[in-house]
Amino acid sequence: MEANKQKPAHFKKVEDKYILTGKIFCGLCGNSMIGVSGTSKTGTKHRYYYCHNAKSKKSCNKKRIKKDLLENIVLISTLEMLKDKKLIKQIVNTCYKMQSDTSSVLNSMENRLKQIEKEIGNMIAAIKQGIITESTKTELSSLEAEKNDLQTSIAREQMKHPVLTKEQIEFWICRFQNTDITDQIQKQKLIDVFINSVYVYEDNIIITFNYKDGEKSIDFSDIEKIEKKKNSDNPNDYQSSPLKVIGGPSGTRTPDHPVMSREL
Ligand SMILES: [Zn+2]
Repeated sequence: MEANKQKPAHFKKVEDKYILTGKIFCGLCGNSMIGVSGTSKTGTKHRYYYCHNAKSKKSCNKKRIKKDLLENIVLISTLEMLKDKKLIKQIVNTCYKMQSDTSSVLNSMENRLKQIEKEIGNMIAAIKQGIITESTKTELSSLEAEKNDLQTSIAREQMKHPVLTKEQIEFWICRFQNTDITDQIQKQKLIDVFINSVYVYEDNIIITFNYKDGEKSIDFSDIEKIEKKKNSDNPNDYQSSPLKVIGGPSGTRTPDHPVMSREL
């Protein structure tokens, strides 16, 4: 708390948080786009993403783009993507496979444990038959000790890398379908988990999701369609939608561009 006193920026208004920072790039020059804001004569604050080159060196012609408009396009497209059941299955399978690849240490420990338990079983059978020597006793107690150690190590490893079932992974991913995009924390999390990068061109946006070949192109002329979709999905949530008042940026449009094409 003492440290935070020194940092007034920490208490920035939520509207001032640019949730795409670090993931958004200019389609014209490739440089990152940064959050900028300005206050109009009437005192209204306007927020934008602006190409770093266009702002600082004036070496790029990219126009700035309204923050709310762009963030909403990205959030809504991500939620659309999460409705694709086939795609979700594909992501779940990949995650599931990845975790089994990374837990090879655990596998070898579990195999060793099985082997020890078998050896202990054999010895106990021998003891029951009356075959007991001094070395059998020593060996048995050393096996028991190794078994105890292994069980502890396995428990530790499992805590480090919990092995999730496919159902658990699917549940975790599907929970994001209910993201409330009016909630700052929830929408930031959605972006953090699923968005790899966003490239803003003159008349379209390319969103790359965090899965293999997960790319989506959105034409600015499709924004109206996205807006309609939003209103029919959840009419109460979007009464003050910025998409309604802002409209698309100027520039050439391509009406025949496919609506949200995704190459898989
Ligand atoms: Zn640029």
